[in-house]
Amino acid sequence: AQAVATRAVDSVCPYCGVGCQLRYHVADGRIVRVEGRDGPANHGRLCVKGRFGFDYVRHPERLTVPLVRRPGVPKGLDGFDPAAAQRVFREADWDEALALAAGGLAAIRDVHGGRALAGFGSAKGSNEEAYLFQKLVRTGFGSNNVDHCTRLCHASSVAALLEGIGSGAVSNPVADVAETEVIVVIGANPTVNHPVAASFMKQAVRAGKTLILMDPRRTELARHARYVLQFRPDTDVAMLNALLHAIIDEGLVDARFVAERTEDFERLRANVAGCSPEAMAPVCGIPAATLREVARVYAGARAAMIFWGMGVSQHVHGTDNARCLIALALASGQIGRPGTGLHPLRGQNNVQGASDAGLIPMVFPDYQRVDDPAARARFEALWGVPLDPQPGLTVVEIMHAILRGEIRGMYILGENPAMSDPNLHHARAALAALEHLVVQDLFLTETAAFADVVLPASACAEKTGTFTNTDRRVQLGRQAIDPPGQARQDLWIIQQMARRLGLAWDYAGPAAVYAELRRAMPSIAGIAWERLEREHAVTYPCASEADPGRAVLFGERFPTASGRARFVPARLLPAAERPDADYPWVLLTGRQLEHWHTGSMTRRARVLDALEPVPVVTLHPVDLAALGLAAGARVRLTSRRGELVAQARPDPGLRRGEVFMAFCYVEAAVNLLTIDALDPYAKIPEFKYCAVRVDAA
Ligand code: SF4
Repeated sequence: AQAVATRAVDSVCPYCGVGCQLRYHVADGRIVRVEGRDGPANHGRLCVKGRFGFDYVRHPERLTVPLVRRPGVPKGLDGFDPAAAQRVFREADWDEALALAAGGLAAIRDVHGGRALAGFGSAKGSNEEAYLFQKLVRTGFGSNNVDHCTRLCHASSVAALLEGIGSGAVSNPVADVAETEVIVVIGANPTVNHPVAASFMKQAVRAGKTLILMDPRRTELARHARYVLQFRPDTDVAMLNALLHAIIDEGLVDARFVAERTEDFERLRANVAGCSPEAMAPVCGIPAATLREVARVYAGARAAMIFWGMGVSQHVHGTDNARCLIALALASGQIGRPGTGLHPLRGQNNVQGASDAGLIPMVFPDYQRVDDPAARARFEALWGVPLDPQPGLTVVEIMHAILRGEIRGMYILGENPAMSDPNLHHARAALAALEHLVVQDLFLTETAAFADVVLPASACAEKTGTFTNTDRRVQLGRQAIDPPGQARQDLWIIQQMARRLGLAWDYAGPAAVYAELRRAMPSIAGIAWERLEREHAVTYPCASEADPGRAVLFGERFPTASGRARFVPARLLPAAERPDADYPWVLLTGRQLEHWHTGSMTRRARVLDALEPVPVVTLHPVDLAALGLAAGARVRLTSRRGELVAQARPDPGLRRGEVFMAFCYVEAAVNLLTIDALDPYAKIPEFKYCAVRVDAA
């Protein structure tokens, strides 16, 4: 029977970037029920993760005491599972654990310099935690080697947006689907990954809006779409350049907008001159007539929005893909008004905020470049120490630098690169090669298996802090329950680490950190903590306390040096690894509805784990039959980097010759197979395409 709740606490969902507001019902120190609140992003709705994915916080495997590696126990996942903790680690009190954790990092810094250290922060932590963590790396370690999972999801989108329109965040909120005429969704599966946002899109379609879906997979959203462009994976630029060609060729360019608000249009025109729909149709697999019709519908609409996900960003040409989407909006004048614009759908609940707060190696908070002397002087004045002028390394670059012996120590907070990095053998070898690794997390994650010291951290429901959703909306999450045992709030742990690294930090709590964050970030200057307590959510940019915040951007000028947006041509660049006779299939990776990223939370949530308990690989039913297999059979996937076995599930939405798998299953970790080739601009790995073989297991 469900316990009777004695207390209700208003907070935000810990999972995706939609930022649903929710209410925890608490009895006897435990969450017994979650319900949706009438927040601006969810109107009372929650998806299955938000509603049922909360009991991981009291899972028996939850870390409740600091752990220190026993001498001589090799680092790695061989034979490792949370039950093996006693063999690998011994318990320690906080004083000893913090002294060892910070002492090991300080010793490396003092001998080899700050650039021999690196930190991964978390997109699931609050803005205050992200801010303090990057400040710790920059001022306590003495380098800019700090990054987080944005590198693996939307780094290419942000690179293209900053270059093209001067701002890396979305231009319009999801709720603007009610104001638009045409909705384009490309390389995203919001039904699975942003379910409440998808519900607003479907509602808009029912109200008469036109949905155009572009994706190599025919996902559930296709049932609601008027146009479904199931293009060949890896041909995004060909298809999008064909749309741009058609818009120019058929006189659909918004000439006034282009003349008054943009520059370099002639470069774009020259670049797409050879990309007519007729020329690109055989490349991308979409008929020329369809490409032309879709170009007319998008460019001719009174208002049209583009949403995209990691199907666009996670390619070696991810930045080029996003450049094309920006060019579509600019050429058609579909930006700067309600119901228009560009919206890269953010994955984690605070990936936007963590990026804004400076958890990125090349920029301080609010995207102020570390190699800009004026920006650096501002932060040196604010933080009172000299700062490294050299941009730091990114996530995958850090793994390479470890194996070259350049990075020797790491502090990882709430990230799980032993599951989330591409080509996991390489990433895991790098983690094992570290002289000193500190992991701060809720569970003994796969990454913690490589740690020297493990610090038991706090879950979202166990702390108060601000979180910024995909719409640029800053929201207040409130503590509902206490961390179990000796687990501590992350802000406390970061500060304790900082003090032992020689920093005299003494923040009274999240509000005090947030006050400094506001001084560091002009974009949120008008969003006071007290205002968030009162209003729950305020959208930035927000210059003063009287400013209501701006949901729609770029109505008059773009935040570039010239005030104009810039067209940046995109080349046709092939995937790093194409199918061949030995590895004839294409592997696409992503997420599934019930599980979150590497599964450390949702696979320990009872209802979610019951819904999807085992690793599944999906493939076209005709391909499955051709392999002589039925649904539920075991199949082996092999790439040049690794292999795994999973249960086969037919999916007619895939194209033949393609397989799809989520990356949440440690027993069949799909990133053992993926390739660590990087987009040259944003350094994002190509998770969305590599060659594999498929056999019966
Ligand atoms: Fe949480 Fe996202 Fe689901 Fe909303 S849509 S309940 S934010 S996971």
